[in-house]
Amino acid sequence: MTEPVLGNVIEEIVSGLVRFLLHGNEYQTFCHCKVCELDIIAITLNTLPPKYVTTKDSRDAAFQQLNTPENIEMINKQIIRAIHIVGRNPRHENEPSSV
Ligand SMILES: [Zn+2]
Repeated sequence: MTEPVLGNVIEEIVSGLVRFLLHGNEYQTFCHCKVCELDIIAITLNTLPPKYVTTKDSRDAAFQQLNTPENIEMINKQIIRAIHIVGRNPRHENEPSSV
C-alpha cells in the first residue's frame, strides 16, 4: 500500500492546461515567467471547486470524471479570464525571465 498523499485533482488539471495554453501559438508573446504562470493558476483555481483526493486510485477516478470536453472547455474559459487579469496587472519584476 502506498503512502496516502493529499492532492487537488483540479489543481493538477489546471496546471497542465495553463502550461499547454501558454506554450501554444495564441499566447506566444505572453510572459512565460513562473510568477505569471502561478498567478494564472491561482486565479483560475479560486474560481473552481477543488477536488481533493488522498490515493492514486481516487485521483485516477476523479481525473477521468473531470476530464470531459465540456469540463475542460469550462476550465479553459476560467484560465483565459485569468490570463487577461495577469496580463493587465503582472506581478513579476520589471525584467521577466523568458523561461
Ligand atoms: Zn511574468
